[in-house]
Parts: sequence; C-alpha cells; structure tokens
Amino acid sequence: MSKKPRPTPVPAERVDGLIDAHTHLASCRARSPEEVDAIVARAADAGVARICTVGDGLEEAELALAAAHFDERVYAACAIHPTRAHELDDAARARLTEMAADERCVAIGETGIDTYWLQHDAEGTAPLNVQEEAFRWHIDLAVQTGKALMIHNREGDAEIMRILADAPRPEHVILHCFSSPLDVAREALDRGYVLSFAGNVTFKRNEELREAAALASAGQYLIETDAPYMTPEPFRGARNEPALIGHTANVVAEARGITPEQVAQEVGETFSRVYGL
Ligand SMILES: [Zn+2]
Ligand SMILES: [Zn+2]
Repeated sequence: MSKKPRPTPVPAERVDGLIDAHTHLASCRARSPEEVDAIVARAADAGVARICTVGDGLEEAELALAAAHFDERVYAACAIHPTRAHELDDAARARLTEMAADERCVAIGETGIDTYWLQHDAEGTAPLNVQEEAFRWHIDLAVQTGKALMIHNREGDAEIMRILADAPRPEHVILHCFSSPLDVAREALDRGYVLSFAGNVTFKRNEELREAAALASAGQYLIETDAPYMTPEPFRGARNEPALIGHTANVVAEARGITPEQVAQEVGETFSRVYGL
C-alpha cells in the first residue's frame, strides 16, 4: 500500500486586505528581521495586510514585540501561555506589564485554561489552580491597559466562562481558535466576545464551528492561522503559515453566505477595533 504524498500547501486565490489575527511567527521559524520579512512578504503576496503574532512565553513575547517594531504590518500579543503558567513569576509579571504598555502590543494573550495538556502531560503542564491565577492576572492587565484579552481555551469551556463572568471585564475579549460547542458560542456572543476562527473551521467534521461562524455578527468574528499549527483544508497536517489564511477566509465566507472580499472587509474592521488601531 502506498501512502498518498501530501500536497505542498499553496495560498488560496488572492484576496486583498486579509488579516491573520493570531499566529506564532517565532514558531514558524521567523525570529530574525529577515526571516520575519520573508514570511510576511509571502503572506502579503496572498493579500494579507496585517498580522498579529503571539508570544506564548517571555522569550517568544520579546520576539513578537521585536517583530512588531521592525515591520509595520505586524502587531504583537504578549502573555505566558496557560500550560506554562508556572513561569509567571515576579520578574515575568514586571516585564509583561512593560510590554503591555508598548504601543505595538495590541493584546494580552494568549492566556486562559488548558486542561487537555494537563491530562496528557501532567508533569510538564501548569496545574489548574496555577493556570487560573495566571489567567486572572492577565485579565487584570488587559483591564488596566485597555488592551484586548486574547484567550486560549483547550477543554476549558466551563472554567473560562465562569472566570470571565466574575472577573473585571476587559473592553475586548477574543476567544482565539474558537473550538467550543454552539451553546458556548451563543453565550460568548451574547456577552459581546469576539470569536476567532482558525483552520479547524475548515475540517469536514466541524460543522458546528461553521454554524458559529454564521451566527456571529459582522463585528464579532476574526480569522487566524495559529500557525504553524491548525493548517486549513485542503492542506491539513502540513505546516501552516500566515499566507494560507485565505483557505479559512473562503470557508467562513461560504458559511456566512458572503464573499471572501466581504470577509476580508469585516475582519479588517474588527481587527482595527479590537486591537485599537
Ligand atoms: Zn492557543
Ligand atoms: Zn496560538
């Protein structure tokens, strides 16, 4: 039996003004200015105008902020990832507070709750109480700075909705890589949160995510690659990068019954509003 060779990912047909609301340039091997320029240029060829890159540890957050300073198409989100919440010591809090005040840092994230890795790698993953304490600290930082709160949720629906309901309310709450059931989507939209859809919205079995994408008002959704992970169909399993966001835009457009150009316009406006640009 021969295995079908995996096709090399290529961008979708160009649509101007696309955004990638959540990606990890450093994890896409773009750490130096030249490497960032190369990956952003490839995305720009596919019509991607703006990118938010996320640092999920202190070192990665520094790289995200540096990338945002040397390329005007790039913005940064800074935080300690929930699986690494034990790294949020006094020094990290002090540095993140400084980073959050930087004008190129547009969001506090990704922060939130991850019980998946807790179950699959208990030793390497911050325990739930540590995750919650770090999440609450990041929420306060978003409130104080007026920056958007960017949430990572992996099998943490109940905890996240509970904590968000009783914590101080940031102006903008983004549920990145939205992967929750439709009832959570409804509740989140009722509360005014923004759902950010990643490549998994294109996966065949995820009809519910496409329903959520159809449900959101024009100002309450974003699209993202979460690269190098979550590569959209038809390239699922390959390495992801911002240039591939068009495939996700196409599926979201179809779900909403609008054109990819309209998706680019709607998410462009939402990107500007929630990231304060
Ligand atoms: Zn995440
Ligand atoms: Zn991410």
